[in-house]
Amino acid sequence: MPTRTSPASSTLPSRAAPRTASARRARTSPWCPRGRASGGVARVRAAVEEACGRSLEPAGEDARGPNRTDHVGIYRQKDGRSFVGVVVPGGRVTGAQLAEVARLADTYGSGEVRFTTEQNLIIPNISDPGLRELTQEPLLKELPYNPPEILRGFVVCTGIDFCDLALIDTKARALPMTRALAARLADRKEPLRMHWSGCPAGCGNHQLADIGFEGTKVRVNDKVVEAVDVWVGGRSGPEPRPGQRIMENVPLSDLPEVLEYLARFFPKQRVARARTQ
Ligand code: SF4
Repeated sequence: MPTRTSPASSTLPSRAAPRTASARRARTSPWCPRGRASGGVARVRAAVEEACGRSLEPAGEDARGPNRTDHVGIYRQKDGRSFVGVVVPGGRVTGAQLAEVARLADTYGSGEVRFTTEQNLIIPNISDPGLRELTQEPLLKELPYNPPEILRGFVVCTGIDFCDLALIDTKARALPMTRALAARLADRKEPLRMHWSGCPAGCGNHQLADIGFEGTKVRVNDKVVEAVDVWVGGRSGPEPRPGQRIMENVPLSDLPEVLEYLARFFPKQRVARARTQ
């Protein structure tokens, strides 16, 4: 049996202490779910009022609703035209793909393209005659408007290519693993949000996903390897709830098995997704 030691017992940073200055700041920040704001909006408001030295009047309306939409698919606009939302797997698009998206927007839409917070793309203002042709375009095989559910709810942070804080190469590791899982669970119809962050800063919002992954390092047989902590049960919306960390220091080599188990048995989505297709 290989021997595995946790970072706390090796020369790696202890899990008890955040690994970077920014992570340490985040944990004591009123904006961090694990910091002073763990009570949510009320705690943030209290912190802001404390900083301002006075109470603040509420403003605006809470626009969060019970339904969630990711804009992936074909949706009717109020003006009778449609928009097509496509998934960018792993949130990384090439220059050639973007040029082709621009051509499709010019050809079938009004030349506009929009980006979503879930790393996907929208081509709006498409009239009915062009809709069928657009969905037959080869690019929409690479950036699908009707992806498997596993790929649809997949978000991954920038990772090591462009971020010095990354502990794992999120983009390179997560996408092949998620594609393989999507192929194995092709018949899954229930939404599943899986988010990856390469470090505790959590830019991938892993604490708000059904299944979240936080990058870390672990020592296995005296070798430092990429690993993740696994979180489950997070959600945003009108009743937000941070996920719970259920596993620590899972080497990425062991993760596909863990991932499939979690995805197969994860409870069916409690929040309905608004679809108007
Ligand atoms: S979560 Fe990802 S993008 Fe954010 S700081 Fe960590 S490695 Fe960088």
